[in-house]
Amino acid sequence: MRIYISCDMEGTAGVCSWKQCDPENHDEYPTYRRYMSKEVRAAIEGAREAGATEFLVNDSHSSMRNLLWDELPHDVRVVSGSPKPYSMGEEIGSGADAAFLTGYHAKSGDRDGVLAHTFSDSTVYRVMMNGTECSEALLIAALAGVHGLPVLLITGDRTIVSETLRYLPWAVGVPVKDSIGYYAVNTLTPLAAQAAIRRGARDAVERRAKARPFTFDGPVEMLLETARVENADFIELMPGFERVGGRTVRFRANEYESAYRAYVAAVRLGGLANTVA
Ligand SMILES: [Zn+2]
Repeated sequence: MRIYISCDMEGTAGVCSWKQCDPENHDEYPTYRRYMSKEVRAAIEGAREAGATEFLVNDSHSSMRNLLWDELPHDVRVVSGSPKPYSMGEEIGSGADAAFLTGYHAKSGDRDGVLAHTFSDSTVYRVMMNGTECSEALLIAALAGVHGLPVLLITGDRTIVSETLRYLPWAVGVPVKDSIGYYAVNTLTPLAAQAAIRRGARDAVERRAKARPFTFDGPVEMLLETARVENADFIELMPGFERVGGRTVRFRANEYESAYRAYVAAVRLGGLANTVA
């Protein structure tokens, strides 16, 4: 059995500041990338205990070059670097049987969401697919669904874990921390979180017979509300996008995969507005 793992960083136990997740920060980032890597390793080890045999890990945070090679088992494959057309879901259709999401976090605008965002807090206010407000977890779960993969495991803050389980009730959720605010948490220690993730991953694979792919049926309308008007100005430059409000753009596609790719591109292009003085 082959498992695809999309691993983010802000949902790692202990994390409560951008500095801890910022590759440019030489004080705190090295410590937390190690904890992120160890949580991925814990998920792999737990899945192995339940019979999973092959793993493809997609580093899904920021520069997407966070995972420490020495903290991973040596017999896994890793997707590293950025940009990638499918971003946090790169290579998800390359033959895996099921997916794990680790280190995930609450979506943009959530009340109880430490570092809550959906791809970019400076570009995205919220994104809807066919009227459903999406977190990163739901966006990637639906991309997995395109390829018939169910998501078996979600780990991260309690807000994203609870929300995701409402859409994917067959999945196992491992909340490693509770948000007290955008910059504060009540968290498990990294070691306790790793143990919980290992158990959760084992349970998730053991229960896989009940799991289903999550999908958005076509045609799909993607509505993106940007953080600021100038983000929408930039996204509107791209053919296929319709400006439907000061901070809102729309993209219509026959199927979800194209809508998702349009979203990835829009976040990139819209983000350029944040670099213009
Ligand atoms: Zn993220």
